[in-house]
Amino acid sequence: MTMEPLAVPGLSSPVAAPATLGALVREVAQALAMVGIVTPGTEARDLVAAVMDRPRFWPTLHATALVDAQTLRQVQVATRRRVAGAPFAYAVGQASFRFLNLLVDERVLIPRPETERLVELVLSKPQAHSGGVAADIGTGSGAIALALAAEGHFQRVIATDVSLDALTVAELNRQGAAASLRARVEFRVGSVLAPLAGEMVDVLVANPPYIAYEEMASLPPLVRYWEPAQALCCAHHGLEVTESIVAGASQALRPGGLLALEVDSRRAGVVARMVTSTGAFGEAHVIADYSGRERFVMATRHATD
Ligand code: SAM
Ligand code: GLN
Repeated sequence: MTMEPLAVPGLSSPVAAPATLGALVREVAQALAMVGIVTPGTEARDLVAAVMDRPRFWPTLHATALVDAQTLRQVQVATRRRVAGAPFAYAVGQASFRFLNLLVDERVLIPRPETERLVELVLSKPQAHSGGVAADIGTGSGAIALALAAEGHFQRVIATDVSLDALTVAELNRQGAAASLRARVEFRVGSVLAPLAGEMVDVLVANPPYIAYEEMASLPPLVRYWEPAQALCCAHHGLEVTESIVAGASQALRPGGLLALEVDSRRAGVVARMVTSTGAFGEAHVIADYSGRERFVMATRHATD
């Protein structure tokens, strides 16, 4: 087996080929430290584990195992991307979400832990266990749709996005999922609720773009420079897409159906009032994420009009 040197930008000369996983992790950590990554050792271990599709502690537990040429090459590519500034998930090309491991790249938002909580909140409701239909608006990587199909009891999950690029990634994730799940998830392209025309669903869920254009400058550079602007920002001070979803929600939801939205914590109250003012829903509940920020708005459509 020929070992290539780990040539990464920032290192003045190629380093001697690491023969073991432990040595590889140390080389990667050095490269990450040189560009100022604050926990280079942990990240290097996680990077190697992710590339190998193994649990995080695998490289530590198997530090003396020899590294094959393909793994070495993939680790080099991921390290180069991370050294060039890419977020960890884009560098390794994957992110975990609930029980799923999703492919991600610059075409989609990196799924967030808050959104895992949104899925958990939906799953805590009876509408997620009735064998009905769910719709995920702005599905990105397919995270919410695939997690609901995996963990809820839905006959079908319809996932939409205005970005064909995003749906290409989502489709790869659908194809990578278990056959029983794959068959129940369907992607449709189009803006907001247009792709649902004629459908009545039991759950309408969305993590829409909700940052205002004028707030873009205050986002962390890793978000601002790397994630798709269309996934993050929209007009009307970050409310345009949410407004369209809320305005059409009562036509798309069956009576008794659940509306579940991720929102910007600064605008949770505004969104709750927006939902209430349609007159189609019972109380709009504002729910905090695990860090105490008001992050979700949930409401049930009146059983009868
Ligand atoms: N659901 C994914 C998640 O939670 O990780 C992605 C959420 S990302 C914040 C918002 C998504 O909405 C992006 O994929 C973006 O392309 C999509 N989007 C933006 N404007 C839209 C619109 N008008 N109609 C449908 N989708 C839209
Ligand atoms: N929560 C994302 C962030 O951290 C924003 C995602 C969104 O706009 N829905 O910036």
